Amino acid sequence: MHRRLRWIITTMGVVALVAGLVASPRAQEIKFFRLGTGSISGVYFPVGGLIASAISHPPGPSRCGEGGSCGVPGMVAVAQASRGSLSNIRDIRAGRLEAALVQSDIAYLAVKGKAPFSGKKAVPGLRAIASLYPEAVHVVVRRKSPIKTIGDLRGRRISLDLKGSGTRSIARLVLKRYGIGSKDVRRLNSQVGPGVDRLKSGRIDAFFFVGGYPAPVISQLAKTVPLRLLPIEGNRAAAIRKANPFLASVTVPASVYGRMAATPTLAVGALLVVSDTVRQDVVYGVTRALWHPSTRQILDQAPRAARRMRVENALTGVAIPLHTGAVRYYREKKMLGSGGSKPATHRDGAPGGGSSQHPTSATPGATREPGSKP
Ligand code: GLU
Repeated sequence: MHRRLRWIITTMGVVALVAGLVASPRAQEIKFFRLGTGSISGVYFPVGGLIASAISHPPGPSRCGEGGSCGVPGMVAVAQASRGSLSNIRDIRAGRLEAALVQSDIAYLAVKGKAPFSGKKAVPGLRAIASLYPEAVHVVVRRKSPIKTIGDLRGRRISLDLKGSGTRSIARLVLKRYGIGSKDVRRLNSQVGPGVDRLKSGRIDAFFFVGGYPAPVISQLAKTVPLRLLPIEGNRAAAIRKANPFLASVTVPASVYGRMAATPTLAVGALLVVSDTVRQDVVYGVTRALWHPSTRQILDQAPRAARRMRVENALTGVAIPLHTGAVRYYREKKMLGSGGSKPATHRDGAPGGGSSQHPTSATPGATREPGSKP
């Protein structure tokens, strides 16, 4: 009897082990997925980290709905710090990243092969997974500063962010429309973290940051240094929007950063993009995991700026073609017709183009799947 029991237990153990090996995620292919973000002090970096954890499902026994991850089986995604949109796209092109967070204006230039992505630098294979949240053009000064307008930045010590950032590209466009050339300011360029430190210690007078609002690092600064944002409005804002149709007018509400007045500025959409070399089933899995109900709890830990991410807005103002894996997901969700058409209005009814509280809706490139007619 005793022996028989031992035999049963041993047999059950072997059966369990074999079943475990067959079903084990270890037997799955492990997919590494590198996600480019931005400065560690920005908004992309924490958002990218949360997206990476939402889409990952490393080998292990736990299942979605049973306390386990609802990510892509076998996926190990990692968020990497970077200089921002331009450098992320270059890293995708060079095969150093699979995916990234980027500004929609920069993604558009890369796909179309327009400067700074002209000629061989074009990245026609860049594809979108989703539009995530609006990024406002912050031009931050001390509240007591004599600098009241962008024009007052002439001759001042300012940071436009580093080469490779999307912030710098927009900062230069803004300054140009106010007649300020690169030699008209004293540039002490840095990413947003050091920019905040330098404004605090008085080493610079202003810095640019194009990112979700409120940006935690700026909120932190506002606790000790009263701040103001410089307005970008009127004819000049209209001219900038004409030069960069992916920008929309928005108002950063009062008190976003301490006791600050509501400030009109411009904003651009943040996109999650991927290389078209990533397999369709993988991108389908990533898109599904991104918008899985369990991901909401993860995204709700994100900086407030990024909690605006909603599947309903995922196709709003996507400036470049969607990846076929994402198309498959949105079709299943009936967000895309079979021809790739999408419902005309934003969830909140914002129009596409012009002034909007939902700048991601202001991009001219309607959501299209590759090969579909505009
Ligand atoms: N939009 C910025 C850029 O591409 C980065 C914003 C962020 O780090 O949150 O430079």
